Amino acid sequence: MITSTRMNGLHPYVPGEQPKDRVYIKLNANENPYVPSPAVIKAVTDFITSQPQKLALYPDPDSNELHAKIADMLNKTGGVLSRAQVKADGTVTPDERDRIPFEITPDMIYSGNGSDEVLSFVFYAFFDSGKKFVMPQFTYSFYPVYAGFYDIPMDQVPLKEDWTLDTDEMLERVKNNGGGLIFANPNAPTSLALTREQVRQMLLKANPDKIFIVDEAYVDFGGESCIPLLKEFPNLLIVRTFSKSLCAAGMRLGYVVASPELINIVTTVKNSVNHFPLDAVAQVAGCAACENPAYYADCARKVAEERDKFYNFLKSRGFYVLESKTNFLFAKHPSIGGEELYKLIKEQGILIRHFNTPGIEDFVRITVGTAEQMEGLKKAIEKII
Ligand SMILES: *Cc1c(COP(=O)(O)O)cnc(C)c1O
Repeated sequence: MITSTRMNGLHPYVPGEQPKDRVYIKLNANENPYVPSPAVIKAVTDFITSQPQKLALYPDPDSNELHAKIADMLNKTGGVLSRAQVKADGTVTPDERDRIPFEITPDMIYSGNGSDEVLSFVFYAFFDSGKKFVMPQFTYSFYPVYAGFYDIPMDQVPLKEDWTLDTDEMLERVKNNGGGLIFANPNAPTSLALTREQVRQMLLKANPDKIFIVDEAYVDFGGESCIPLLKEFPNLLIVRTFSKSLCAAGMRLGYVVASPELINIVTTVKNSVNHFPLDAVAQVAGCAACENPAYYADCARKVAEERDKFYNFLKSRGFYVLESKTNFLFAKHPSIGGEELYKLIKEQGILIRHFNTPGIEDFVRITVGTAEQMEGLKKAIEKII
């Protein structure tokens, strides 16, 4: 019998369920309830119908056009879609609070098949198997998976009582362990965000020779991006995705924003694994999405509005709810456990997420959908509580 000793260190990620037995309202994987912009649909359709020969050829291995478009979108939006200002003529400018004090250039962008793949290369490139890297105890559950995969020791720092990151302790451990640091901001599954100034204070205290990774998967829904800090801190690396705010989880598009030096390192890892990671269709879709920030700003605002309404609803029903800056809510109720609540809601045709992880098992994570979907969930919860 063939066995693999490598498997011993692996603890694969378990994604939100995708059942086939019944059509559920899916509020369990933080996907966007809106479809990609009409311009994306048109660009992809046109590409396939008018240039089918491109599907027979290898795509641009460096994704040059896509990187230029991503850079352009970040310059126009400041990296936070829900606050981007859309003028009557369709032009988009950053909110004052999000303005980037320098220009993001294409050589500051790396892209890959979803930020999960991007994160895999980033872990491989910057975390040392001899030194513990630091992350919060409750954060994106893929980080420990990569730690196992690459055999990198990790140091998980408990959150504070109020579920915020213990930034001082994280820095202290980085100092002692010698490894780098990663956290999601806003964090998942807690939904809470540090301000840019809070992250800046961390960076000022952190060792400039150690990688400092911020995963901004959810920042477009109302957090503060750390992109404006990139020039001040060359050890800062930011990971972002099209899966949440750009309505494209099915396309698999993620990217890094960092100094050209760090981008070169990640590109070298990519070229050592699969040097054509982004397919031609995804590149076309990504370019068209970046050309339409106004559409996505509107989607992000709608989601943020529903989120705030649903936050108030949950509060009014006695839930303890964290103050979300994301497209999901993390909540628990004093009279019902997380797993039971999840099950009773599933019976009514709606999927939310429950984690069996000790410490957060009382909570459920609810993705914010359309007004109609949230109305359905409201009714389901009212029947239970
Ligand atoms: C969803 C998510 C990702 C992964 O997104 P993909 O681009 O779809 O791989 C990365 N980080 C965090 C914190 C996420 O929640």
